[in-house]
Order: sequence, then structure tokens, then C-alpha cells
Amino acid sequence: MSALPEVRMQGNRPVAPRVSGFTRPFWDALSEGRLQTTACTRCSVLNFPPRNLCRACWSRDLHWVDLRPLGTLYSFTRVHVVPGAFSADAPYTIGIVDLDGGLRLMCRLMGPVEATDLDRAVQMLVLRYDDGPLFGGQVVG
Ligand SMILES: [Zn+2]
Repeated sequence: MSALPEVRMQGNRPVAPRVSGFTRPFWDALSEGRLQTTACTRCSVLNFPPRNLCRACWSRDLHWVDLRPLGTLYSFTRVHVVPGAFSADAPYTIGIVDLDGGLRLMCRLMGPVEATDLDRAVQMLVLRYDDGPLFGGQVVG
């Protein structure tokens, strides 16, 4: 699978994620350009964000899988009034994306987004900050 496209961001992440022993594989993979989550070995359900307990059958037998980084734009909003940590980025767009693998997630959307972009294809991205990655998306279809 090819690496996610990257967008170079200014400075550090507005709020750096807390990385634990459990979430480190997610952040390491994202840093390498792959979007990952946990899949249940027992019932195959994907869990996002990654979990160590299956949301469907409560099994703790999960493993890491790469997600196909393409989806469809379900909804979005343009954020103008933001918490102080995000003031340098405002206004920005937050979208809800239905990934092709069946997961729905929320992320920042880069580039212009219009109401006519609903149901269009979204490419997931690595947002590369000075202190590490975040994931985002961009309407491409
Ligand atoms: Zn399960």
C-alpha cells in the first residue's frame, strides 16, 4: 500500500496526543505514512480509534491493520471560534469521513470544502507538524 500523501504544517501540533505503549504503533505507523487501527481477531470488526477491547464482542484479542486511506465526505463544518491552542489555524474545516473499510471518523480537512463536496471522495493525509504527525483528509473526487 502506498504511503499517505503528506501536508507540511507550521509549528507543533496544537494539542499533542498522549502516546502510550498501546497507541505507539498507531503513531509510529502514521509517522511512516500509514493509517492503522485495531481489528478484532475473533469477529473481524474494525475499531477506531484503536482500542484494546473490541466494541462488538468485547474480545481483547485484537491486532493492528492498515486502513485503506480513501473514503467519502459525510459532513463537515467550518470552525471560526476555536480554543486558544488552535487560534493560529482558525478558521479551519472539520469533516466526518466514511472510510471505504466501513469506519466513520472525524478529522481536519485541508483545502477548500463546499456543500457540493458532500459524498465526494476523500483522500486521507498525514499532517506533518514539527513535533509529529496528525491525520487529516482532503476532498479529491
Ligand atoms: Zn470482536
